[in-house]
Amino acid sequence: MLKAVLLDISGVLTEDGEALPGAVEAVARLEASGLVLRFLTNTSRKTSAAVCEELERLGFAVTPAQVFTAPGAIRRHLERHRLTPYLLIHEHLEPEFAGLPEGEPSAVVLGDAEQRFDYAHLDTAFRLLLAGAPLLAVGTNRYFRADGTLHLDAGPFVRALEYAADIEARILGKPSGDFFHAVLDAAGVKPNEALMVGDDVECDVLAAMAIGLAACLVRSGKYRPGDEERAPEARCEASLEALVEALLETP
Ligand SMILES: [Mg+2]
Repeated sequence: MLKAVLLDISGVLTEDGEALPGAVEAVARLEASGLVLRFLTNTSRKTSAAVCEELERLGFAVTPAQVFTAPGAIRRHLERHRLTPYLLIHEHLEPEFAGLPEGEPSAVVLGDAEQRFDYAHLDTAFRLLLAGAPLLAVGTNRYFRADGTLHLDAGPFVRALEYAADIEARILGKPSGDFFHAVLDAAGVKPNEALMVGDDVECDVLAAMAIGLAACLVRSGKYRPGDEERAPEARCEASLEALVEALLETP
């Protein structure tokens, strides 16, 4: 029985800082139906607190405890393993890592660093990895959509550092099964009782299905025609609004 719906944020609920058509109402209908809702994102250009505030500002009823971000998962990992990070991240994300130990880095943290993905920063990260520091990354997303076009996400830079240092990154956001399990455990829900909704066929849909969730690909956000052919077992709907309409009319 379906107990929880996990919603990817960018491309499902929002795009370019605006709510997608019908998304606020769709989330409100899901909430009113008694389903447990959680909001997931690999976005690493803003803090978890800022993600939550933006959703509230757009009219979504959401609390900080319902929001799970990849940078938040990395912070918890650093604390648990007492690691000192070298942060290759966006300047807006810095508050997420405030108050952690400083000094000689014992881990490389990689988010969507945008302009900081330059030779000097990547080269420093590379040498730390060669010296044995683990590479902790938000995700393997190839691209995201903003301002009407696709942009490079963190994934290509993760792969570049893995290749150079001949190591394997530890992915702490989607598509990591650990990320989904942490969300489900906190909600007290089993994988087969949850539905993941996303616009990224790999990191949202296939990743959730790999650990036993149902999944729905929405044809909004970064969706590109033909994506559904890569996940033939997944549900596919035009939008979150269309999914909710179909879900709630079926007893
Ligand atoms: Mg998305």
